Amino acid sequence: MKFISKFDRNISVLYILTIVVIVITSYFTFKEVINSYNKSQHQAIIPLFSIITSEVIRPLNVASFMANDPLLTDFIEQEKINKNELLHYLQRLAQRYNMLTFIALEKHNLILDSNDKLISLSNENAEWYQRLKSQNKDQFADIGNSENPHLYFDMKLVNDQEEFLGFIGVAIDLNHFANKFKEYSKRFGFELIFVDQNNDVMLSSNHFMKTDSHHRKDETINIGQLEWYQDLLSQEGSYQITNTIVSVDSGERIISQMPIQALNWRMFILAPPVSQQDEYWQLFLTRIGVFLILIAILYYIFINTVDYFKNRLVEDSETDFLTKLPNRSFLNWKFEELICEYEGICVVIADIDYFKVVNDTYGHVVGDEVLKEVATQLNNNLRHEDISGRWGGEEFVMLLPNTSSKKALEIVERLRENIANTPFKVSSSNHQFNITISFGVCESTTENVSFKQLIEHADIALYEAKNKGRNQSKIYKD
Ligand code: GH3
Ligand code: MG
Ligand code: MG
Repeated sequence: MKFISKFDRNISVLYILTIVVIVITSYFTFKEVINSYNKSQHQAIIPLFSIITSEVIRPLNVASFMANDPLLTDFIEQEKINKNELLHYLQRLAQRYNMLTFIALEKHNLILDSNDKLISLSNENAEWYQRLKSQNKDQFADIGNSENPHLYFDMKLVNDQEEFLGFIGVAIDLNHFANKFKEYSKRFGFELIFVDQNNDVMLSSNHFMKTDSHHRKDETINIGQLEWYQDLLSQEGSYQITNTIVSVDSGERIISQMPIQALNWRMFILAPPVSQQDEYWQLFLTRIGVFLILIAILYYIFINTVDYFKNRLVEDSETDFLTKLPNRSFLNWKFEELICEYEGICVVIADIDYFKVVNDTYGHVVGDEVLKEVATQLNNNLRHEDISGRWGGEEFVMLLPNTSSKKALEIVERLRENIANTPFKVSSSNHQFNITISFGVCESTTENVSFKQLIEHADIALYEAKNKGRNQSKIYKD
């Protein structure tokens, strides 16, 4: 019972330990995933702002700076202007800011850019001029130049009397944006899509920016055409979309949007969900590795604990509690093993003489001590392959393999004499007395190989020894 409760306690400890390991590992995994996710978000957000500032806001500022230059306004209001001076002005700014600059003048019926390309307002490539002029806005972002598409940031030029004079602005090659955004999206796995107030895609890191020209209206992509946007709207039902998960090209993406007020644009950020980002898988796998190692260690401890208790239980079930000798059940089992292993075997039954008198005279406690002492004597003076055990009460059985009955008699006689000549001292008093034992010996033959039979025959021999006056050994004879 003590072992069972100890076993239960150990199993409970292991169980709790396993739960603690699972909880701690999950906690750290979760914490690290969150931290690493936040870190990657930060790492992606900062360059995102710089990309917007340098690629979108900066050209807008340059265009706005040119549109508000009073010297330029005065210059273009002249009846006759020097085209070279104008070109020089555009080229200086183009060089400084590393972008194409242009001007379109109503009065002089011309459009000139820093590449010295000069066309009249009636040219077919100047279609945008009338379109933007008619709109009630001061600044525009428009994709133009069908052969070599550029994003144009156009500003209306007006004089002090608010009279319309034309447009001035900058243009950036779409390939430049595409490269910048591609770089970004490669590094962080995020895709960027910029749409104007009409939901037309103006810039993107996505493949659809590679479609040749957005100059002609029928080639413009409207974000409303894209399936994921439809999903997004159906999920959110509004324009205020933040961190919504939708399917994009059969993979999931977290979609966030951000307004770019200066242009009245919106930017969509399409990020792969955590579950599709390699670094989280890596983190997860290392954590799982640690977890499995811990579980393996716990399993090893568990198996050893179970083994230990199992052995103890088996040992307990085969040992006599008082004398610590093997019990009857073990003797039965051991006999079967020895009979297979050895040619022959001798079975001996030993019975303490007048043991009832010992109990009656000195009490059961002393009786128990006598049993223990006899057990020690019977066990100590045996060969390695011999076994002695308690058969029950004050009876013991010895199994002596590879031993003839004659040899067995010699062994037990020696034991008998030893025990008979050694006085037993009562530990609680000064008393001492001698005890004697009678032995019955039986050797296995072809007729009596069963343990039961051998015991019965040894018992007959023992009975003879008792009858002949006790303190003697007898061999069974048919
Ligand atoms: P015999 O010489 O004929 O063997 O006489 P005996 O008194 O030894 O035999 P009997 O069978 O009459 O008595 C056996 C006694 O052993 C009776 C029982 O109380 C006692 N006994 C059996 N098991 C134990 C035990 O574990 N401890 C103690 N103290 N006594 C036991
Ligand atoms: Mg007896
Ligand atoms: Mg007896």
